[in-house]
Amino acid sequence: MSQPLLLIIEDEAALKRFLKPTLQKQGYQVLLASTGQEGLDLARSHNPDLVLLDLGLPDRDGLKVLQELRSWSRKPVIILSARSQELDKVIALNLGADDYVTKPFGAAELLARIGVGLRNAARTEQASEIYESKGLKVDLNTRQVTRNGELVRLTPLEYRLLTALIRRAGRVATHTQLLTEVWGPGQAEQIHYLRIYMGQLRHKLESDPSRPQHFLTEPGIGYRINVD
Ligand code: CA
Repeated sequence: MSQPLLLIIEDEAALKRFLKPTLQKQGYQVLLASTGQEGLDLARSHNPDLVLLDLGLPDRDGLKVLQELRSWSRKPVIILSARSQELDKVIALNLGADDYVTKPFGAAELLARIGVGLRNAARTEQASEIYESKGLKVDLNTRQVTRNGELVRLTPLEYRLLTALIRRAGRVATHTQLLTEVWGPGQAEQIHYLRIYMGQLRHKLESDPSRPQHFLTEPGIGYRINVD
């Protein structure tokens, strides 16, 4: 992808002044919108490769902007949220946002998230069938899981949880998303199931389950499979 186009929907002038040159220096093209409406209009007219969306916008709720965007676009969306918007952040992920950064954030963190978002979008298009990271290999065709070349046996639920995380590799998966996908709708409140099964996955697939390298906890939100 040469010069991906990023759309920033954010009303804070100081943040935009920082973001635009920082992202351009990394080779991105940048579009700026200061209101939700302007953002949606630019998204329709320019079809950006990735959207950075502030939740606190002057004209409408950022969650409403996300919902509308998701009604016609699958492009990655990264939420820019304030600490006071913890709950909205989870709602945004459940509504289909790909990831979030919490203000104040550093350039390195944001650039890493953007990189993952764009790579994932490209990977989804190619529908890769093998996941591989730091000694962990999962073949999604044969359902074979190996750690450092050795076959690991997973129960069907463990395997479903693993693939639900892999489908969002590098991004966060919320408790609600994982519980709904793995255990079914109606099980979204059973967070203790997740704790138990994440513990089992870590026990089987991490070198040191108490210091996970693959399966990272996002406190209060969910889990993320690490893709460095
Ligand atoms: Ca704002």
